Amino acid sequence: MDSITPQIASAQDILSRIFGYNSFRGDQEAVIDHVIDGGDALVLMPTGGGKSLCYQIPALCRSGLAIVVSPLIALMQDQVTALQQLGVKAAALNSTLPYGEILAIERGMRSGELDMVYVAPEKLLTDGFLNLLDQCDLSLFAIDEAHCVSQWGHDFRPEYLQLSLLKERFPWVPRIALTATADGPTRQDIKERLHLSDARAFVAGFDRPNIRYKIGLKAAPKKQLTDLLEREHAGQSGIVYCMSRNKVEEIAQSLSEKGFNALPYHAGLSKDIRAGNQDRFLKEDAVIMVATVAFGMGIDKPDVRFVIHLDLPKSLEAYYQETGRAGRDGLPAEAWMIYSMNDVARLYHMASQSDAPEAQKRIENRKLEALLGFCETTRCRRQVLLEYFDDNPIEPCGNCDTCLTPVESFDGTEAAQKALSTVYRTGQIFGSAHVIDVLLGAKTERIEKLGHDQLSTFGIGKEFIKQEWRSIFRQLVALGYLKVDMEGHGSFQLGEDCRPVLRGEKTVWFRRDPAKKTRASLRSHY
Ligand code: ADP
Ligand code: ZN
Repeated sequence: MDSITPQIASAQDILSRIFGYNSFRGDQEAVIDHVIDGGDALVLMPTGGGKSLCYQIPALCRSGLAIVVSPLIALMQDQVTALQQLGVKAAALNSTLPYGEILAIERGMRSGELDMVYVAPEKLLTDGFLNLLDQCDLSLFAIDEAHCVSQWGHDFRPEYLQLSLLKERFPWVPRIALTATADGPTRQDIKERLHLSDARAFVAGFDRPNIRYKIGLKAAPKKQLTDLLEREHAGQSGIVYCMSRNKVEEIAQSLSEKGFNALPYHAGLSKDIRAGNQDRFLKEDAVIMVATVAFGMGIDKPDVRFVIHLDLPKSLEAYYQETGRAGRDGLPAEAWMIYSMNDVARLYHMASQSDAPEAQKRIENRKLEALLGFCETTRCRRQVLLEYFDDNPIEPCGNCDTCLTPVESFDGTEAAQKALSTVYRTGQIFGSAHVIDVLLGAKTERIEKLGHDQLSTFGIGKEFIKQEWRSIFRQLVALGYLKVDMEGHGSFQLGEDCRPVLRGEKTVWFRRDPAKKTRASLRSHY
């Protein structure tokens, strides 16, 4: 085994001598330098970005023992074995070890023989372990999967909250927190809860340039799906995400009937069926996995050529995670999504049903608006997506639908005024279906019963078809001129900034609905 002389080995040295790599990737070098100098860091990098080296190299460059906190006990031993094979003196402490081994590791920690010890948070926080740490020369704390400290994240672990005591108890030991998923609110939450307000944040490398982003409207989803698969993805592997188990079954069956090799995956299937389908997806060619979000965690298949969303994901973070399963091999891949106003209403409804505290609801609402804004944007999708993660700004990417087919926009001030005043005149208690009926002058039972055919806005919107009005309403929501009621079933309320629009002091630009070009074909669907 090579012995490492920590004080004189440079980061570059360790990178090549121990890990066998020539150069650092992305932010790695900056993070490593910062931590070696004793600074705290918050590192956001996508999965596979190379987070481990960000703490492993400082652990070897600084003298003393590094403590790595990770919730994934199952993966800890693998990491430690890999490090040991490289000649690094690492160990994983968990309660399943024989007593003798635990004692040996504790001895190695005290004597300074060990460079790195992996430990679960609940173990770290025991009095016994903290007392042990008092007797060790510590080089740093690495907190992996740091989003677990946040309730806004998707994997909250209460024991992570107490990791804040590391700062009080060992103020001289630098701390580095790492995660692959964290948008603005989650990141802020991590900083506050782990007492990392002075930590330098490193955010980078979220771009997946080989993924082409495309987002369209749902008209006839099954036909849109098969058209796309036949036209652009014949013979390829991919994932089709659906909201519900029933829909997964329905879509998988409909694809199978059309001759595709499609398999269902959702939590309602037996363990054996799930494992079997997952195995076929990984091993066979051209398998299409039709799945709920239950599918995908930890799946490492490099040649997934497409990820399709037939329903809106929960948030932009979820969208990024799910689409990120495409094109791991770096070859061209597609992320394609279709959505409708009903999807949007359903998400708002689900958010309103949660019994989360007000503050959390507000954040969920904001996340939803960000997702909608992304869908309706007239800008480069990648720019909007990377801005959401605060990644470095980029030029329009040339590899998303809005870049490839510049969005036609039109002055929609008058349309906005008609829409907003109809919402106002119908009492701000209806969703898009009824409000659009009023605009189109439809003689529905509800309109006659409520006397809404007497309103001054009745029938003033005949220049647009129903589908176009739906798009306009979505964009009014995305622009903040309309709010979707959290309590009711997606009824509209006027947003705060809509006065200047109603008074004609502000021009509103809308994305020209792609539906416009195929009006005739759309009429048959509605
Ligand atoms: P993360 O924890 O961010 O998901 P890992 O730390 O597991 O990512 O790294 C992902 C892969 O990239 C690993 O196989 C790792 O060895 C490799 N890797 C990391 N940094 C470099 C580098 N600078 N050069 C080459 N390969 C690297
Ligand atoms: Zn683009």
